[in-house]
Amino acid sequence: QEDTFKKIISHAKEYGFIFQSSEIYDGLSAVYDYGQLGAELKNNIKSYWWKSMVMLHENIVGIDSAIFMHPTVWKASGHVDAFNDPLIDNKDSKKRYRADVLIEDYIQKLEGKIDKEIKKARKKFGDDFDEGKFRETNPRVLSNQKKVDDVRHRFKTALDNDDLAEVKQIIVDAEIACPISGSKSWTDVRQFNLMFDTKLGSVNEGASTIYLRPETAQGIFVNYLNVQKSGRMNLPFGIAQIGKAFRNEIVARQFIFRMREFEQMEMQYFIQPGKEEEWFANWKEKRMKWHKALGYDDTLLRFHDHEKLAHYATAATDIEFNFPFGFKELEGVHSRTDFDLSKHQEFSGKKIQYYDNERQESYVPYVVETSIGLDRMFLAVLSAAYKEETIEKENGKSDQRVVMALPPAIAPIQLAVLPLTKKDGLPDKARAIIRELKYEFNCHYEEKDSIGRRYRRQDAIGTPYAITVDHETLENNTVTLRDRDTMEQKRIDIDKIPEILREKVSL
Ligand code: ATP
Repeated sequence: QEDTFKKIISHAKEYGFIFQSSEIYDGLSAVYDYGQLGAELKNNIKSYWWKSMVMLHENIVGIDSAIFMHPTVWKASGHVDAFNDPLIDNKDSKKRYRADVLIEDYIQKLEGKIDKEIKKARKKFGDDFDEGKFRETNPRVLSNQKKVDDVRHRFKTALDNDDLAEVKQIIVDAEIACPISGSKSWTDVRQFNLMFDTKLGSVNEGASTIYLRPETAQGIFVNYLNVQKSGRMNLPFGIAQIGKAFRNEIVARQFIFRMREFEQMEMQYFIQPGKEEEWFANWKEKRMKWHKALGYDDTLLRFHDHEKLAHYATAATDIEFNFPFGFKELEGVHSRTDFDLSKHQEFSGKKIQYYDNERQESYVPYVVETSIGLDRMFLAVLSAAYKEETIEKENGKSDQRVVMALPPAIAPIQLAVLPLTKKDGLPDKARAIIRELKYEFNCHYEEKDSIGRRYRRQDAIGTPYAITVDHETLENNTVTLRDRDTMEQKRIDIDKIPEILREKVSL
């Protein structure tokens, strides 16, 4: 799996999906640029989200708030005081680590040991192997599983109690039990605030410290009244937003999974108090459906309901995706009561209330939010799509291909138009076809290399359909349509292309 992940990263670079930021200067850690195909794919994911939220819901509207906000916003939201990660330095290597990432590494090592035992046993017992039973009875598996459960419990309790000395002790114990960084020499654990700050105005004018927003949600909360009044919105209604967020992640790893500059797609749904359970269940289900509409099933997606909740929350779940490095959070759905709006009411001194005609009373609305990282979604899409296939040929030989089985509706290029040769008017005909289609579909013209190699290239970038323009095209106005996934080719009438594409690229 590690290997697959490395291959995906280099594939993403090779074909222009993702580059390291400032690469010619050796890069900037955990900051990435989207290349020519990456930008298209990212825009398509954004549009899939925006359309399903804003266009398909008559009571959800979208906004675009500024990255910079009044510094008190982050006081009210709790980010100034509590948006921290525990951090520890290794005295020998002078490297800095996030405590939770070190513990996660330790757990992964233990789980690796468990997997090894299971693999060994599966090889030995073949078809008779019962993994569930083996997990329940094998002493080595049981002992490692107990260690995993214990360390998870201990770490969680330490964080809940804000007991940083205990966090350090857990890391030291883990290091002794199973080397994770190769050194036992640590500084004390400290809390580190993840917000980037900068100065507004020049120093002479009395500059003030402002923050680069670490989430887009607060831009929605502080505009609640503006939108509700100007849009004449009645509860329940939602405000959606897509935008950049910044976090000074201590250990930023795993490619675009954890970045310092990233994008979020968030939606705050304002509801009557007392209706939170109903709306939480509703959004939980809706968001899972949104993912599954891309063709993903239970092997790739699952819920992880939170047992321990923030004091103001009534329910929270993560939608986890099976990344090449295991199931990890992709999206959060949270029932946040009136916590955020009430805090802004308190800190701003402005009344943030809704007059409910039905109930004949004013109150601060409750909120159910859905929050997904656009880049994380991009990584999910990329890793689910990457496939290496062996193709059996007619002459008995076999061939390899890398294919990105991207959902056709969000693929960066939907149709490749390929003239069989560079002469006899075939390029002109191919370009004429593109001129007709380009207002509706993202088309790509390619005349370089043999047709077989061009198909492989389109497979590698995830183009679901390719049409080849040949001499017959000039005679009877037909082309060959090739399907990326089945590699089937069929002759179709040029006039039929829009209809066929429309059906295939819609969700
Ligand atoms: P994590 O536990 O992975 O750090 P989080 O619980 O802090 O995530 P939230 O604050 O709930 O995340 O943010 C909502 C979503 O934003 C996450 O589900 C994730 O998809 C995305 N996200 C958060 N931090 C990052 C990051 N550093 N890089 C990329 N995406 C991120």
